Amino acid sequence: MPDVHAFLSASASHRWLSCTPSAAIEAKLPDKTSQYAEEGTRAHALAEKRLNRFLEGKPLKRKPKDVDGEMWEATEVYVDACIEKINDARKTSPDAEVHVEEQLDFSPWVPKGFGTGDMVIVSDDFIEVIDLKYGKGVKVSAENNTQMMLYALGLYNTYGMLYGAEKVRMTIVQPRIDNISTAEMSTEDLLAWGESIKPVAEKAFKGEGERCAGEHCRFCKAKATCRKLADYELEKVQEDLEPEELTDIDIVYILMRSDSIKKWLTTLEEYALDKAINDGITWPGMKVVEGRSNRKINDTDLARKALTDAGYSMDEIMKPQELQTITALEKIIGKKRFTELMGDNLIKPQGKPTLVPESDKRPPMELENVTDKDFDDDLL
Ligand code: SF4
Repeated sequence: MPDVHAFLSASASHRWLSCTPSAAIEAKLPDKTSQYAEEGTRAHALAEKRLNRFLEGKPLKRKPKDVDGEMWEATEVYVDACIEKINDARKTSPDAEVHVEEQLDFSPWVPKGFGTGDMVIVSDDFIEVIDLKYGKGVKVSAENNTQMMLYALGLYNTYGMLYGAEKVRMTIVQPRIDNISTAEMSTEDLLAWGESIKPVAEKAFKGEGERCAGEHCRFCKAKATCRKLADYELEKVQEDLEPEELTDIDIVYILMRSDSIKKWLTTLEEYALDKAINDGITWPGMKVVEGRSNRKINDTDLARKALTDAGYSMDEIMKPQELQTITALEKIIGKKRFTELMGDNLIKPQGKPTLVPESDKRPPMELENVTDKDFDDDLL
């Protein structure tokens, strides 16, 4: 579950470890909940219930009607991964302890730091924290993941010394994108890392230090108005430009950053519009207007009657029934079951050519056979 109450939360640690004043800056700004956060909370509650049933030796229930297929399937993948881990641990350590929704106190390293481990295992050989991530936007790795390392410190704080485990494991389960990532460290290395971040955490707790922009700004509540981030996003665009023509290097610089710049511009637009609408702010040289809209029929029953009364047949005026989108069908049925039901009928047409950084994991496209044909990469 998100550790919403800690000033220096584990989930934001990537940010406050890189930009030490960010936690204090964010604390002054209002919280905004999103549909994704609410969905994540529901998924965690369901996963907790299902895992507890298993631990209490009760049979796992059938899907209730009010839970969508995708959430049911995703929590099943998570619970199955947890069960596998519990069984593995008990093979070598029959008394291994398992706790669900365990409060983890990492305050010896981070002032007032605490969080919640979705599931933890304490065995003779290792201690492990498992985190369910319901989001599917970004694939998250457990390697060098500061959130997981802080949870692991919290777990060590409660059980590590007692059990003398020499290894810590950290696992992230992201069932909606088939990602199960596990990292392992020696307890010694984890504790050394904990010591190394202590002065940084102290600084972050006091709100001291210089702002530092980077990839970690993505979820910062201050990102719309942060000058450091604006300078960071625009820096490469202004730098290295020839007076008259862009060089190849300039073009690459700009394209490599286009995704990040577009997201930042969207944040800025949303912020300015929100302020104009809700706080009556007038931005010099700008105004709020009605966006473009399409004509629509207000009452479809009346429209149908008018058209049939005028002699048009139902076949002429009505659309044939069409299937829901794949995303909507997967949400109702669950991705796994939907894929089974579709079999070979589920195809992936060739996507249209797209320029991406070399680090992208997709292989380069064979360009010889590329023509002006229609590409479609929106079907999935
Ligand atoms: S947006 Fe600004 S305050 Fe927030 S993390 Fe980035 S640099 Fe720091």
